[in-house]
Amino acid sequence: MPFAVTHVLITIIVVELIRDYFIKDKKNFPLYLVLIGGIVGLVPDIDLFLYWALYIQFQIPLLSVHRVFTHSVIWPAIFLIGAYFAYFKRNKKITYWFLVIVIGLVIHVILDSITGYTFPLAPFMYKQFGLGLLPDTDIGRSITMAIDAVILLAWLVYIEWRHRISRFI
Ligand SMILES: [Zn+2]
Repeated sequence: MPFAVTHVLITIIVVELIRDYFIKDKKNFPLYLVLIGGIVGLVPDIDLFLYWALYIQFQIPLLSVHRVFTHSVIWPAIFLIGAYFAYFKRNKKITYWFLVIVIGLVIHVILDSITGYTFPLAPFMYKQFGLGLLPDTDIGRSITMAIDAVILLAWLVYIEWRHRISRFI
């Protein structure tokens, strides 16, 4: 179960690498889209609020609500269709917006599916997918914390190397 830092940072790193190395017209792909990607990378876990609310009343199990609807492939598919139409309307900025949202949502579900389990085909099929590599146990959580720390440090080193952020402090 990746922590919020991993969700946000992996998405930020992927979007930033794409912006740094593949996007030539950076005017249509402003730096704030990297931040938008990071925020979207966390959005599917908004279902935790619903889980907490329902748990108080009914003591339901975590995976009956969490990682179901908000982790469905429906959402990235909708934004991918949006990107497709924006592309044909020649609106590059909106195309990039939609693609960043798709990247954030897809990375979130992939991370959750590697470390745990998700229901990406909900509401059509309630089948659980995932490798479950980091179980919600003491050892699983401690490894997750270590991954958070390593990713954070790697990202700080990268942006210092690539963008010299220390000059802005
Ligand atoms: Zn999640």
